[in-house]
Amino acid sequence: MSPQITSGKDLPQLPWDDDKLKEECGIFGVVGVTDAASFVALGLHALQHRGQEAGGIVSHDPAQGFNSARRMGYVRDNFTSASLMDTLPGPLAIGHVRYSTAGSKGQTAMRDVQPFFGEFAMGGAAMAHNGNITNADALRKELIERGAIFQSSSDSECIIHLMARSLQRNIPDRMEDALRRVEGAFSVVAMTETQLIGVRDPLGVRPLVLGKVADGWVLSSETCALDIIGAEFVREVEPGEMVVITEKGVDSRFPFRPQSPRFCIFEHVYFSRPDSIIGGRSVYETRRQIGVELAREAPVDADLVCPVPDSGTPAAIGFSQESGIPYAMGIIRNQYMGRTFIEPTEQIRNMGVRLKLNVNRALIKGKRVILVDDSVVRGTTSRKIKEMILDAGAAEVHFRIASPPTAWPCFYGVDTPQREKLLAATMSEDEMCAHLAVDSLKFISLDGLYRAVGAVEGRDANCPQYCDACFSGEYPVAPSDMINKGFELKAAE
Ligand code: SF4
Repeated sequence: MSPQITSGKDLPQLPWDDDKLKEECGIFGVVGVTDAASFVALGLHALQHRGQEAGGIVSHDPAQGFNSARRMGYVRDNFTSASLMDTLPGPLAIGHVRYSTAGSKGQTAMRDVQPFFGEFAMGGAAMAHNGNITNADALRKELIERGAIFQSSSDSECIIHLMARSLQRNIPDRMEDALRRVEGAFSVVAMTETQLIGVRDPLGVRPLVLGKVADGWVLSSETCALDIIGAEFVREVEPGEMVVITEKGVDSRFPFRPQSPRFCIFEHVYFSRPDSIIGGRSVYETRRQIGVELAREAPVDADLVCPVPDSGTPAAIGFSQESGIPYAMGIIRNQYMGRTFIEPTEQIRNMGVRLKLNVNRALIKGKRVILVDDSVVRGTTSRKIKEMILDAGAAEVHFRIASPPTAWPCFYGVDTPQREKLLAATMSEDEMCAHLAVDSLKFISLDGLYRAVGAVEGRDANCPQYCDACFSGEYPVAPSDMINKGFELKAAE
């Protein structure tokens, strides 16, 4: 039987899909330009790495009111057609790309595709959320008991229902009320008929930046999406800040109790695009610096430093520069795999990672190779890559990992396997080395990672500067729903 090509919806899961933490979502909004939805489509395209399962745009036009379109699959396959974009007129629009972190996991249902929309007494509002609400189960139960009728299985919909119950007289004030009840991580982009609204949770776990384009304003998960529309980066929305933007300008307020920020350190390692700027630092440069720290912490005699493409590349460059060991493309990625797959029959499944990555045999043969990867999650892909490198005749294989061991799940908008499926949750570094059957395996230390992101003194154990819960097990916001379901926090030391 010949293989079938599938694309867009009904995405089959292949083995390598299973062995990375999944990016959360990307959000984008524009006010004050003609055809704002076209800008949003471009912005979402630049944020596609943050979610590939589905996307949506809501726009508002003074004459035609609110309009929306939600589609499964890539932005480029949906929001490029003139016939669709013509249905989204107006100077104000927001959008969302999604990988399901809550709701129907792994296979997004159309009813879970954002932005969500609510009609209130003072007018309509649409909202797109990046992050995860850690008390969503409790909120949902309470809201349903009080008569709310949920349309989706997404945690984000709680915000709309909480807004509906607020007695405030305008949408931003209602949103403040709603978000004060929410625990966990949220960056939100929302819109009314005239306002573009951006909010970050008090810890600022997920990113959100403010930009300027012509006479208009932009909100985006990352700066790389400002570049694509020619917008100028203005500043990050601060942790705990709400910005309410109209054509007149930006009104800023801080509605939450102030707390020390805890931005997600994994955004630096893996989630954000390397051409984005976070906290005034180039993500590429931070990743290169992680490689420098890794080479200092875990040197090894070898002939070549090779990245596991693509996310291991900047760290491998840094490792090579610091160690003096030549950098080489020992593994080549098939650039055209995308999410259009050959139907995974058993035979093709067994090819696994070879469908996406291939070893540069002529380069590898007889060499002692250092492989630099961003993370080890289950370890299944690392093992297969090691086998491919040995099959190609490498003399030795040494793994160097640009993050500390991922031993705890994330509850703040990143899809991680259950704790027992994480290799580092059940094995020490030496045991993982033996399990992967490599000549050596070393992870960057938590302090080394902090130094690489610019905290020169390393991690402040009393008041960590970032969220690093997936490495440390120290959750800055107690994941109350998960605790109620039996999740055990790390015992106090
Ligand atoms: S637990 Fe890890 S992935 Fe999740 S927000 Fe914290 S640092 Fe980021």
